Amino acid sequence: MPSTVLITGASRGIGAAAARLFAQKGWQVAANYCQSEKEARALAASHPGILAVQADVADRGQVDRMTKEVLHQFGHIDVLINNAGIAQQKLFTDVTETEWERLFSVNVTGVFHCCQAVLPGMIRRQRGKILNLSSIWGMTGASCEVAYSAAKAAVIGLSKALAKEVGPSGITVNCVAPGVIDTQMNAALDDETRAGLREETPLGVLGKPEDVANLLFFLASEQADFITGQVISPNGGFVIV
Ligand code: NAP
Repeated sequence: MPSTVLITGASRGIGAAAARLFAQKGWQVAANYCQSEKEARALAASHPGILAVQADVADRGQVDRMTKEVLHQFGHIDVLINNAGIAQQKLFTDVTETEWERLFSVNVTGVFHCCQAVLPGMIRRQRGKILNLSSIWGMTGASCEVAYSAAKAAVIGLSKALAKEVGPSGITVNCVAPGVIDTQMNAALDDETRAGLREETPLGVLGKPEDVANLLFFLASEQADFITGQVISPNGGFVIV
């Protein structure tokens, strides 16, 4: 029976790179998207084994419907990758309550919804792996990204606590906290800022979505069976703890 993974936010960037890698390795992949239907359908069409599934992870009803659809198609979910996320760069004093709430709804409550949706099946099978995307900013904090930093720090706390709670059920929970990765999320950065970020990175380059996908694939594999409750940061040396 092929292994199965549900990846949220897989219509582009890190999620799409992960979907392609898992599919190439023979996994059945449920690639979630919220708005980018065309991109998600193109991804699914390009790789047999990828199923595009729509849901806004911030919406409990949509997540439950999506999970049912994936379970109907695949029978079970071995791995959940909570990758869907949104960012915002703004002075803290200018952030509106609506913006703050949406950022937390997608980046934190979305993780809560998806974990709650897949865990009953994983607990029944006494196996499963959950990987949650945090960020270096969730570890160090970033100026003008207070809401994002706070949300990504919450994902770290959620992951550590959940790892303790579901470890006895044979389920691992880890956080992947990337550094600056060259995706649409950073498309608004100007050349000077990008050059500055490269300069601050000991390896001298921005990360590629595939750099993160490779780590996710390792953490989803049996080679990572004894790793849980950890925050692992592919960041080119930008943050060293
Ligand atoms: P991206 O290119 O902007 O892609 C974001 C993905 O999330 C898209 O597929 C988008 O799908 C999906 N998404 C957004 N809101 C959603 C929602 N409500 N429900 C379901 N899907 C939703 O971002 P990325 O750079 O690949 O980032 C992926 C993850 O890594 C995020 O959690 C991000 O915070 C984290 N991360 C990124 C970086 C970086 O430098 N890029 C660094 C550290 C951490 P639709 O277009 O269909 O809405």
